[in-house]
Amino acid sequence: MVDVELDERLKEECGVFGVYAPEENAARIGFFGLFALQHRGQESAGLAVSDGEKVRLRVGMGLVNQVFDEVTLDSLPGHIAVGHTRYSTTGASVLKNAQPVFCQSTVGEIAVAHNGNLINARELRIEMELDGEKFEGTSDSEILARIIVRNLDRGAETAVSEVMRRAKGAYSVTVLTPTMLIGFRDPAGIRPLVVGALGKDGYVIASETCAFNPVGATPLQELEPGEMVIIDSRGMRVACGAKADCKAMCLFEMIYFARPDSEMYGTTIYSARERMGARLSIEHPAEADIVIPVPDSGIPAALGYSRESGIPFREGMIKSRYIHRTFIQPDQRMRELGVKMKLSPLVDHLVGKRVILVDDSIVRGTTTKQIVKLLFESGATEVHVRITAPPIKHPCFYGIDMATTKELAAAKMTLPELENYLGATSLGYLSVEGAMNAVGRPHNSFCTACFTGKYPVEVPSDLTKASLEELADVGEIATLSRSQLRLLEI
Ligand code: SF4
Repeated sequence: MVDVELDERLKEECGVFGVYAPEENAARIGFFGLFALQHRGQESAGLAVSDGEKVRLRVGMGLVNQVFDEVTLDSLPGHIAVGHTRYSTTGASVLKNAQPVFCQSTVGEIAVAHNGNLINARELRIEMELDGEKFEGTSDSEILARIIVRNLDRGAETAVSEVMRRAKGAYSVTVLTPTMLIGFRDPAGIRPLVVGALGKDGYVIASETCAFNPVGATPLQELEPGEMVIIDSRGMRVACGAKADCKAMCLFEMIYFARPDSEMYGTTIYSARERMGARLSIEHPAEADIVIPVPDSGIPAALGYSRESGIPFREGMIKSRYIHRTFIQPDQRMRELGVKMKLSPLVDHLVGKRVILVDDSIVRGTTTKQIVKLLFESGATEVHVRITAPPIKHPCFYGIDMATTKELAAAKMTLPELENYLGATSLGYLSVEGAMNAVGRPHNSFCTACFTGKYPVEVPSDLTKASLEELADVGEIATLSRSQLRLLEI
């Protein structure tokens, strides 16, 4: 899928990072860790750093390298850090959404970075307020932070177990106390979280292993659903916070969100996507001259499709790699150019060719429609669209900002209607089974809710994407504590 600013895109809500490095500058390691997780969130970034006594925080709007520079990193001394990159759920690019969340506790200041969505945030908030808790807002991340704060004097294990007992939904979290780094993953393991080793006594925790290489860390283990890791001067220990009732890793991480060089579920994402492409060619063959990817995310699957089908792989479009770095808004005429602002066709590869176009997903269908049109305008005689994500028909309540059901192309159109809408010669989606088989894990290891409507963690019947957004709207204030306001700079 092309993440054209001007068009549809699925938005992962966050990447989280944590580092405990006794001999090193944690802010600098945190910066490069977040930089590697930039694909998981590009609207704001933040780091909280502890020198063993004092916790300092910096958050700001924009890309990681816009929020931090040499001066700001130097103002964050210490050997423990947690960091966060995010998209806002509501589309509003506001500083109030930035994390880590900062709270006072009996053991000092703590900072919390959260990836995912709680589905019982309202109930928890009401319950905790009745119990005397004072909130500065209503974001679900603040709720997690305040449950931890309330229980931290009974030990980190107890505090995290209490979160897992009460919070429902998706949460992969890193927590910083003045002397400790904690990571934990919800009992269904919906969002990823992995631990790595850094040098002699150091550790890192990240949403994805792609954050390890740039800081010289090596993967140790993926946290299992319901597990926590606690790192302090005594070393690292892994403990169970809650019994995992199911394994339900987001299948979309494997299809689109995670970076291709990351490893999850014992495979590199790149290889899993190649296998998805190969299965797609078996499930939906087509007679054609070339297989082309939608760059860059469709490349591994297109290679897999090509290899399995024997149809040559060619690049059909070149993506402008730096367009996301411009902050100049296009005018209306340029906005109407749509994907042309980001993709240029390689006309001599396309003229007179029957093309198989491989992409990872269709959300609203508007981008795919524009790409199909671009290929025909460039001389292709047939365009067979092949998609590695099964049809997306249901909303996600676990941390992916996708369209509401009535905006999802596959929910409102039959396959022939969608094929017609796209203007494609043919359209084929990989099956849910095909995608899971390509990863190589048992079928009960995944969340497939946006494809199948089967939600692994029961979603209250009155919970809608709109109500989550409403909560996030009100909660924008919550993600900024008074302490943050004091320390914040933009
Ligand atoms: S509903 Fe879809 S996007 Fe959301 S966690 Fe499940 S598989 Fe991932």
